[in-house]
Amino acid sequence: MPDNSRHADGARVLADLDALRAIGTYKTGVHKPTFSEPHMRSLQWLTQRLPQAGLTAETDGIGNVLGKSAKPGPKLLAGSHLDSQNFAGWLDGPLGVVYALEAARIINPDPNADGAVEVAAWSDEEGHFGSFLGSRSYVGDVTEANIDAARDSGGRAMRDALRDAGLAGRARAKAERGRHIGYLEAHIEQGRSLESSGLRIGVVTSIVGIWQYLISFSGEQNHAGTTRMADRRDAGLALARFCVAIDDRFPALCGPRTVWTTGRIALDPGAHSIIPGRAEMLFQMRDDDPAVIERLQDHLRKMAAEVSAQGRCRVEVKRIRTGAPVMTDAGFQDAIEAASLALAGGKSVRMPSGAGHDAQILATIMPAGMLFVPSIGGISHHWSENTADADIVTGAQVFVEACRRLLAK
Ligand SMILES: [Zn+2]
Repeated sequence: MPDNSRHADGARVLADLDALRAIGTYKTGVHKPTFSEPHMRSLQWLTQRLPQAGLTAETDGIGNVLGKSAKPGPKLLAGSHLDSQNFAGWLDGPLGVVYALEAARIINPDPNADGAVEVAAWSDEEGHFGSFLGSRSYVGDVTEANIDAARDSGGRAMRDALRDAGLAGRARAKAERGRHIGYLEAHIEQGRSLESSGLRIGVVTSIVGIWQYLISFSGEQNHAGTTRMADRRDAGLALARFCVAIDDRFPALCGPRTVWTTGRIALDPGAHSIIPGRAEMLFQMRDDDPAVIERLQDHLRKMAAEVSAQGRCRVEVKRIRTGAPVMTDAGFQDAIEAASLALAGGKSVRMPSGAGHDAQILATIMPAGMLFVPSIGGISHHWSENTADADIVTGAQVFVEACRRLLAK
């Protein structure tokens, strides 16, 4: 007879995710901005369940919920977040928290399992008030002055939001060095790699770095009626050509998963009857290999020099953000892969994460790993985000088994 108590209870996992979706429901998704009533109620939901896993629940002064175990032996930290993007999906965050809770419920009371899983729900992962504020606070990277200065997009002070949520004056939890063997987080993929290859589990190898640029074009502002086409130095046109040239040339130079995006474009002036003398574009590249980015960046500068040499417009490429990629721990990758082999028919693939996650913050102080489950149609940050029930259940089973293997090492 199979030993069901060893494995994740799929029906319980699905019921928990449904319960969290019932808080702050929006269509088939949720709306739970950080410190909103539905976010706080979701944290309460979690704190009420942590004792089922033998964990003592604590909500700290930045809205992190942490479940601590008194069981002797090694401890693995696991979790994700319960805040959401505005009017977004039901699994982005809750999936990882419920998997962690399930792993703790299965492993912590098991006398044959080594150690315990401790659960975390990190505050403000979606960046309503800052960037990964909850997990960054936990690793000691957020000052009181940072919190004083933080505001949401509507201008509301984070201090006011904390006070209204009943969190003012509470201490912030700090990582205890050496307490955890590492951090494991599950998340929906938010892309379509797994679905399109018929795979069930993504073993995350790295979380990509983000590099950002401001590319500016200087030409000559002039009259749109009297300046002949041959005489123009149109910065807007140079910008448009540059965008197209990037898309033509990068594929021969990039890595298999490099992505690039043009953001805000501004023409100065942007009027009907004036040839723009200046133009600017924000440009972003993501990859987990700094050498690839280095190559693409060299090429951007080469393209800029080529355009400048033609004499009509001068192009300047300025780097405004350098993002270091974060590699996950090899032992964690092996544990997830072995668990997939045992419980998901080996239908797993090692892959980088193109999105940022709390795991990249935890990885700065302890070994960290991540597991992905497929996203239907690759859709996320939208209320229609979803994952097949069967994939949610398989992911939970692989997650619990990976925790068990990590703790048994
Ligand atoms: Zn997320």
